[in-house]
Amino acid sequence: MKRLVCTSKNFEKFPPAVCISSEVKSQQPHLGQVYLLMSALYHSAFRVHPGKERKCRGIMEGMYELIQAGKDSFFIDCPSRIGVVRTGEGEAVLIDSGSDKDAGRRIRQILDREGWKLSAIYCTHSHADHIGGCRYLQGKTGCRVFIPEEEHCFTRHTILEPSLLFGGYPFAALRHKFLMAEACNAEILTEEALPPGFEAIPLPGHSIGMTAYRTPDDVVFAGDAAAGKESLGKYGISYIYSVSDHLRSLGILGNLKARLFVLSHADHVEDISSLAMYNAEKTRETAGRILGLLSEPMGTESILRRTAEAFGITLDAVQYMLIGSTVRSYLAYLCDSGAVETVFQDGMMLWRRV
Ligand SMILES: [Zn+2]
Repeated sequence: MKRLVCTSKNFEKFPPAVCISSEVKSQQPHLGQVYLLMSALYHSAFRVHPGKERKCRGIMEGMYELIQAGKDSFFIDCPSRIGVVRTGEGEAVLIDSGSDKDAGRRIRQILDREGWKLSAIYCTHSHADHIGGCRYLQGKTGCRVFIPEEEHCFTRHTILEPSLLFGGYPFAALRHKFLMAEACNAEILTEEALPPGFEAIPLPGHSIGMTAYRTPDDVVFAGDAAAGKESLGKYGISYIYSVSDHLRSLGILGNLKARLFVLSHADHVEDISSLAMYNAEKTRETAGRILGLLSEPMGTESILRRTAEAFGITLDAVQYMLIGSTVRSYLAYLCDSGAVETVFQDGMMLWRRV
């Protein structure tokens, strides 16, 4: 286990601490590579560089290290970071469960090594790389799984995730584990279901019910509420379900104070305000760029193609669906804000600037 040093004096009372070593840093795959490997991961950015899956897999094998983030809070360093919080003597809960059975197995190995019994998993949202380990862990430990109400049916009927993205029943290329986790027996998150001292913080936008969790030792596990500056700066666009909710949530997130913020696909930060602001800027910038593409009334497919070109995104079935879903969310946002409107011509729905 590695301990995390924060420069903040909040952490001074922690036991002898060790900075996250350069070794650990170097094990972190470049985010673009992670997205490439995960292929369908629709989190901080869309992939742009095909052809590096094998290299990325090699890097990932060295991961899954337990890192201390607070007195009782830890995270497992892996492509979709997992929170581990001690809630009692020999007992722990997780925040999210990784992408699949293999992640679940590696989490279990860590818990066994530390002598911690898993009592529950609290999911930030239902995307496959956050709930993918739940079924395995539930089967092996009997732990309970909780998820916000808006996301609940997606954990029981995981076909809903690619269905939502595609906008209908998804064809075979979209029905794979990167978009469809194994279903698990999750329960709806309630106030009473939280461990003592925990707080659930709704931050919808990236997904319909994205929720962060604050632990009693003041670590906020923020899931995918914000993307990393590096990846967002490089790729410029990230998957968003509701642009208006996302912007609102970024405002809330930016005003939160905590000892540490742990994000699923970005480095942890002590102060989230500048990252939240950067995400909001990028979101507005993307909305402006999509609006700028509408030099004439245009169908969704044409806007999608031009958006992919503008952001240098190579399309395949999954990327087409991810960016397509995101573009439609941006168009809905622009339409609701009065910047664009729909018009029907020759049996086609076109978007035009107002
Ligand atoms: Zn997500």
